[in-house]
Amino acid sequence: MSELNNISVEVGQAASAAPKVNLMGLDRDAMESYFASIGEKSFRASQVMKWIHQVGVSDFAEMTNLSKVLRTNLAEQAIISAPEIISDNLSEDGTRKWLLKVPGKSAIEMVFIPEDTRGTLCVSSQVGCTLNCSFCATGKQGYNRDLTTAEIIGQVWLAKHMLAEQYQTDKRIVSNVVMMGMGEPLMNFDNVVAAMNIMQDDFCFGLSKRRITLSTAGVVPKIDELKEACPVSLAVSLHAPNDELRNVLVPINRKYNIKALLEACNRYVADSQRARITFEYVMLEGINDELEHAHQLAALMKTVPGKVNLIPFNPFEGIEYKRSSNSRINRFRDILHNNGIIVTVRKTRGDDIEAACGQLAGDVMDKTRRAEKFRQSLSEKIQ
Ligand code: SAH
Repeated sequence: MSELNNISVEVGQAASAAPKVNLMGLDRDAMESYFASIGEKSFRASQVMKWIHQVGVSDFAEMTNLSKVLRTNLAEQAIISAPEIISDNLSEDGTRKWLLKVPGKSAIEMVFIPEDTRGTLCVSSQVGCTLNCSFCATGKQGYNRDLTTAEIIGQVWLAKHMLAEQYQTDKRIVSNVVMMGMGEPLMNFDNVVAAMNIMQDDFCFGLSKRRITLSTAGVVPKIDELKEACPVSLAVSLHAPNDELRNVLVPINRKYNIKALLEACNRYVADSQRARITFEYVMLEGINDELEHAHQLAALMKTVPGKVNLIPFNPFEGIEYKRSSNSRINRFRDILHNNGIIVTVRKTRGDDIEAACGQLAGDVMDKTRRAEKFRQSLSEKIQ
């Protein structure tokens, strides 16, 4: 399935020439099918994937363990291409954010967060988002399109090589990938799964499932599909402890309510004793940070193996919500903790370059008109 998508979508040629396949976006199955389709043995898949993802080569001429004839044929039929870099910003705390250009006059964002024991890359899955969570900058922009597999894995590919230059080392700098950038990864299921397959492949990035986290606002049927297709670590954007409030903050809750969501979470970790789901909870002053909310959340958390990550709200232009004060965040955290729930408070990183969670905006050619409505309501408020 995904291989056909990749082959048909990722073309890099004018209409007159035969479409070129972008090998960047082919996972192992797709790559083996591709080589079979041109009469080559399947071990070519490993060779080429290693060149592309481990060595970082995008020119077939450099693939010296392939015959000259094969290199020439590949150059005629295929390309290796990642998104283009529009801008590259380094924060005082070491966080680095890139704005990347993707076809369709759009841009997406990617962020790298270095910590003492790990380096986390936050990757986008869509240009914009359809889910329209009320506190999210990406949601306010509307939705343009899904990213292709090559555009998703191309972010990891770019980051790996740019960070190797920055840190002057061949050692693994990206130790973790989180699908927490722009978009809802489960709404672009096939391409995201293919990209996560490439992240895990030993001939590519060799990351274990536990080091890849997919964050979802709660597309319930797709959580079950993910368990079958690619059971990586799961994070769930809960943000409210009851349906009334969650319907407003995370509108997909009107389709899949908290009960259905938590049942899906339980199914996701059913056969693994150690697995825990991370529940993200954005702290919005006076909205979802009252004592009763903390108690309601504690009660919910007793029904599912998980931990809570409190995210101080990151404001952006035109949004009315405010970040909860530290004392309210700590009070909330303590109630959960005293109820035996594992809880952490996310450190906000990259504030000075607007790289914090929920601030990724890119540049979307909006097809849904939501952005226009948003701008209108903004200017009405200002007047
Ligand atoms: N669509 C996915 C992944 C993208 S957002 C999801 O909803 O999980 C990654 C996380 O950032 C989500 O938990 C999201 O709710 C949160 N987030 C969005 N806007 C935010 C903001 N302004 N401040 C803090 N966190 C935010």
